[in-house]
Amino acid sequence: MAFTPGLRPGVLCRFVSPVGIHRTSASRGGGSGGFADGGGAVSPFDSNAWTIEHRCTQCGAPINLGETDRLFACPFCRVKMCLTTTDCFRYYLPAPDTATPGIFYAPYWRIKGMSFSCDGDYEVRESLLDATHRASNDLFIPESLGLRPQTLKLRFIAPGTGANFVKPSMAFDAAFSEIQAALPPYTRADQSAGPFYSTFVGEKVSLVYAPFYIRGSMVFDAILGEPLHTTRFAEDFSPPQETADGTLKVLPALCPNCGADLEGGRESIGFFCTNCNSSWYLTGSSLERIPFSVIAGVDDDPLNLPFWRIKARFQGITLETFADLVRMANLPRAIKKEWESQALFFWVPAFKVNAGLLLRISRLVTINQSPQGMAETDTPPAAPYPITFPVHEAAESIKVTIAALMATKKKLWPILKDLTIFPVESRLVYIPFRRQGRDLINMSMQFSVSSNSLKHGEHL
Ligand SMILES: [Zn+2]
Ligand SMILES: [Zn+2]
Repeated sequence: MAFTPGLRPGVLCRFVSPVGIHRTSASRGGGSGGFADGGGAVSPFDSNAWTIEHRCTQCGAPINLGETDRLFACPFCRVKMCLTTTDCFRYYLPAPDTATPGIFYAPYWRIKGMSFSCDGDYEVRESLLDATHRASNDLFIPESLGLRPQTLKLRFIAPGTGANFVKPSMAFDAAFSEIQAALPPYTRADQSAGPFYSTFVGEKVSLVYAPFYIRGSMVFDAILGEPLHTTRFAEDFSPPQETADGTLKVLPALCPNCGADLEGGRESIGFFCTNCNSSWYLTGSSLERIPFSVIAGVDDDPLNLPFWRIKARFQGITLETFADLVRMANLPRAIKKEWESQALFFWVPAFKVNAGLLLRISRLVTINQSPQGMAETDTPPAAPYPITFPVHEAAESIKVTIAALMATKKKLWPILKDLTIFPVESRLVYIPFRRQGRDLINMSMQFSVSSNSLKHGEHL
């Protein structure tokens, strides 16, 4: 799809379907075993990635960050910091000529997330949603940011930025509804029924402000210096301004318990302190200590992948014990008596992968429950893989995992819309994987994941 600068489509959406991930194997039932994960597929996720120009809060040196970066070290003063925000990250695209009179910055909601749909033909479909929509009811402002040249860089809005930021007048939910309405229908035209259930998981919502100015009644794009191709004209535009407050938090990446450097990847939202053997989760304003378990492996040099083990209460379905799950998924196993009282946990990757792989891994680890024959220990995990997928987003994915596991979809999918899930408990658990060529293999559960597919999960 080609976009002409200045002439922007209503909504920018890219539906990404790398080879092998567009459809899950949901309709094939919940059997165990290996899976293909499309790891060799193209990585399409960088085409609309922004770079953020930041200044080190310690020494003032310029630092370029990726949009998904949460942990970074200043290349000059070497201080390690992590980034978080009390509500959502706010960025602006600086106007090239700030001397132009009357520049104002219009707000856009930016959303990146995984979309799942339980369709009328009893298949789970997944895709990546990447869209912007104006966060303003002022109709002369273009509906979406469109594709912008990669040379443009974002900056964080900070107190003292000193520009005229228009206060958002359209709530995220309203903008999101418009984004959804503009999406191509998931269901095929020959289907009379719509999806039984659809959801977005891993919503990354931020606000991006873009500069405009008005001459006469014409609105100009202040980056291109060109009038907008719009039939709507702006008159007497004096919107309320946004107060640039302190929603951005820059925290030292030091263990709050012992002061040692925290370990993690650049997109980490959870960190490890090997000095005092503690793990820390990045909330909106601080680092909070979280409990963790490590499942002992048989290999000397495993890679430990982090998972959220979540217990939930359900309204609309009986799903309390492992036996309930075996029955619902019609797993080819004879139900043991102890399974009737074994609490059911949902296992969701605590690392980012594409939507199809997220669902497949969740299903496979969940139907295995705690890998059998392995004990949990409190020793620190060897080579812990970075935690990049938040626990609340993991909890949001449970319903679609259940939908994919349901054996009698014709009978059960109609209840999905009335099914309510209340997560009651979560725990970080590391599961060991053996490195074998390009694959990571868990022998106990007998499944593998290509290390390439983990790389592709970055920047999502
Ligand atoms: Zn510095
Ligand atoms: Zn520590």
